[in-house]
Amino acid sequence: MAKDHPTVLLVEDEPAQREVLSYNLQAEGFDVEIAADGDTALLMVQEVQPDIIVLDWMLPGISGIEICRRLKTRSETQKIPVIMLSARSEEVDRVRGLETGADDYVVKPYSVMELMARVRNQLRRVRPSSVGQTLTYEDIMLDAETHRVTRNDAALRLGPTEFRLLATFMEKPGRVWSREQLLDRVWGRDIYVDSRTVDVHIGRLRKALCVHGGDDPLRTVRGAGYALG
Ligand code: CA
Repeated sequence: MAKDHPTVLLVEDEPAQREVLSYNLQAEGFDVEIAADGDTALLMVQEVQPDIIVLDWMLPGISGIEICRRLKTRSETQKIPVIMLSARSEEVDRVRGLETGADDYVVKPYSVMELMARVRNQLRRVRPSSVGQTLTYEDIMLDAETHRVTRNDAALRLGPTEFRLLATFMEKPGRVWSREQLLDRVWGRDIYVDSRTVDVHIGRLRKALCVHGGDDPLRTVRGAGYALG
C-alpha cells in the first residue's frame, strides 16, 4: 500500500479509549497503528516509523514519560512529534517539569475534536503535504488538497508516484534522501520495490518538471541519493 496517509502510533492501554481514538483518527484519514503497553510501543516505533505518536502517560510496563524521554534522546526518533495524554492537569505540569520533550499535552477527559486538531497541527509542522497544505519551492507549486502541481503557473501532469515523490522533496528542500528512505516514504514499507524503481520515477519526475522548460531542480547526490535544490 502506498503511503499517502500519515501513520499515527496510538499508545493507550484502555480499550474503550483506544477504540474511540482509533476510530476518529481513521475517520481523519490517518493510518493507525496501536500499542497497548510501553514495551510494544517502543518496538512499534522502530517497525512502523510513525509520523506522529499519541502517547498515554499511565501504561503497564514502561511509562509514557519514559518512552517519550527515550524517543527524544535518539536521533532516529527525536523528530517524531509526541502528543502526551494524561489524566489531570497537575500531571501535565509534572510531565512538563520532567522535560520529556513531548511536543504537546492533552488532559483527560479531552475532547476528541481538540485532540484531532492538535494531531493535525503537529503533522502540519513535520509533513505539511499530508494535511492538505500548499507547498512552494521557487517557481514550483504543489497543492496537496487538489493534487495540482504547477511550475511558473503552467500545470504539470504527474503520476501518483511522481506526485508523492515531489511532495516529499518539497517538504524538506535541500535534504538528501537515500533511495531506501524514498522507498519507505513514497511506496511504503509493506511492499517490495527494487531501489532502481526509484531512479525510474525520479527520471519521470524530472521530465515532468521540465516539460515547459526551466532547469532541473533535482540534484543527484553521488552515493547518497537525491535532493531538491
Ligand atoms: Ca492509561
